[in-house]
Amino acid sequence: MSAWHIGRAWSGTEIEDGCPCPKAPCGLVVGLQAVGGPCRQHTGIKTMRQSHPADVCPGRRAEEVARIAREQADERRRRNDELVAELGLLKPGAVAASLREREQARRQRRAEDAGRLDLGGGA
Ligand SMILES: [Zn+2]
Ligand SMILES: [Zn+2]
Repeated sequence: MSAWHIGRAWSGTEIEDGCPCPKAPCGLVVGLQAVGGPCRQHTGIKTMRQSHPADVCPGRRAEEVARIAREQADERRRRNDELVAELGLLKPGAVAASLREREQARRQRRAEDAGRLDLGGGA
C-alpha cells in the first residue's frame, strides 16, 4: 500500500511548509502523523483537504523536471569549463602565468638593451 500525501488547506502548502512532518516532493506531508506527536496539524483528528496517493504525486514530475534541468545546467557548465580551459582564459592561474611571461620578456628585453649599452660604452 502506498502512502498518501496530505495537506490541511484547500490549496498550497503553507501549513505544511512550517510543520515538522516528513514532506513529499509536492510539499505535502507523507501520511497521517501520530496524535500527540510533534505536529498538531497532520493527525487523524484533523480534516485533510488535499490528498493524493504517492504514486500519482504531481511533485514527482516537478522533481524530475528540476533534476533534468540541473543535469543540463551542469553539462553546460562543464562544457564551458572545457572551453575556457582550452582557450586558457579566465583561469586565474593561466592569467597570472601569462602576466609573468610578459613581465619576464620585458625584463629580458631591458637586460639585452642594457647589455648593448654596456658593450657600446666599453668599446
Ligand atoms: Zn505536519
Ligand atoms: Zn504528493
